[in-house]
Amino acid sequence: MNELLPLFVNLESRRVVLVGGGPVAASKLTQLLAAGADVRVVSPEVTADIAASGVAIDLRGFVPADLDDAWFVVAAATPEVNREVARAAAERRMFVNAVDDPANASAFLSGVVRRDGVTLAISTSGAAPGLTGLLREALDAVLPRDLSRWMHEAARQRKIWRRDRVPMSERRPLLLEALNRLYRRKNLENLENPGCGFVSLVGAGPGDPDLLTQAAIARLRAADLVLYDALVDTRVLDLAADAQPFFVGKRAGRHALAQHEIHAVMIRAAKRGRRVVRLKGGDPFVFGRGGEEALALRAAGVSYEIVPGISSAVAAAGLAGIPVTHRGLSSAFLVVSGHDDEAFSAVVEGLSPGSVTLVILMGASRRVALARKLLDIGWAAGTPAAVVANASMAGEQVWRGTIADIAGDHVPDTADAPAVIIVGDVAALALNHEAKTEVVEDSRKASGGG
Ligand code: SAH
Repeated sequence: MNELLPLFVNLESRRVVLVGGGPVAASKLTQLLAAGADVRVVSPEVTADIAASGVAIDLRGFVPADLDDAWFVVAAATPEVNREVARAAAERRMFVNAVDDPANASAFLSGVVRRDGVTLAISTSGAAPGLTGLLREALDAVLPRDLSRWMHEAARQRKIWRRDRVPMSERRPLLLEALNRLYRRKNLENLENPGCGFVSLVGAGPGDPDLLTQAAIARLRAADLVLYDALVDTRVLDLAADAQPFFVGKRAGRHALAQHEIHAVMIRAAKRGRRVVRLKGGDPFVFGRGGEEALALRAAGVSYEIVPGISSAVAAAGLAGIPVTHRGLSSAFLVVSGHDDEAFSAVVEGLSPGSVTLVILMGASRRVALARKLLDIGWAAGTPAAVVANASMAGEQVWRGTIADIAGDHVPDTADAPAVIIVGDVAALALNHEAKTEVVEDSRKASGGG
């Protein structure tokens, strides 16, 4: 194969057809929408993400005529469909990008690092997308933090050269010299204060910046680099005005970085003298893998600290006006993950039914099975239960009912929103005065249960 020509195309308002409706198509859709493309999705089925994105969707199989008014097509379907798309595209002299299917592609989306007006594109010609991701991370780490100063200085120099008609051949050494001048002062500062790299494992609370600790705010303000997860609210990130933000969480079901890669980025950045904030939703040590990260930092000899945060385990309940313990109603609460059937069963089977308030994290999508499990082991069907989604964030929702309502699938779906399930007598309480949270449905009253 010849070398590929890297090319940046302007898709603004141009029709792009996206064939396929799975998670891979969903991730491409995000990129295409960011480019301002007029996207049309063709697929017999689409994920909830795609359905909710607001783009035009044709719920059916691909037909060649779909490409008639398009500038570009992305094939993210099965190899057979992708082949058909490639054929139709070739007939129309159109470029086609086939996700994970280089044989059927004539154009390849690149991995991208963007900062301060600079775009770096990385391609492995479709052969090794995983490597693209790693290189993206590596390049991001080596790019200067103050690239905007470089850009600014380079643009300023260019004006001077044009005015003075400086020949091309002299421009590069002049630019290098100008950029070095920017650093002479900074280098002196660094010499006086070497190797001060440090990692803070910071809990960001449930979302609203008002619920951050003073320590969290101070660490964010001082940070050079912030590694953050999917559940972290952008309003919190905004506090780290001087830092480079770096997303390391899960998006569309895929991890941006594997856990060991997160360790490597933190350690490397700290060793280069940067002040790193590892920002996690809620508390870093509550289902946040903060413990693993602390161990990795310790093993690498990097200094670190833990800055606790308000865990959603208590904040979600509290914001809904539910006290997790209450004299006479509940003298203990148990925080458990609903993510894994076996682990959940092992925990709840060891309890006498109704003896504690259960606070279930990571269980929203599996709520029906979890509630059925509780009924199976003897919890009363009328036991009050609540589901609090997006606590302290936009779209906060509180639902109240009983275990039986959850088992019968009567909870409105909040799709991918983070949600906490609270089970126990306290879940019937609503002690928040201000009607800040919206009670979506009170089916407990309706069904006469409880
Ligand atoms: N370390 C976090 C928990 C991480 S596990 C903490 O202490 O809160 C992720 C789970 O946390 C989600 O599945 C959800 O159950 C819960 N969660 C986090 N933020 C939430 C929020 N704002 N509203 C409701 N639940 C939330």
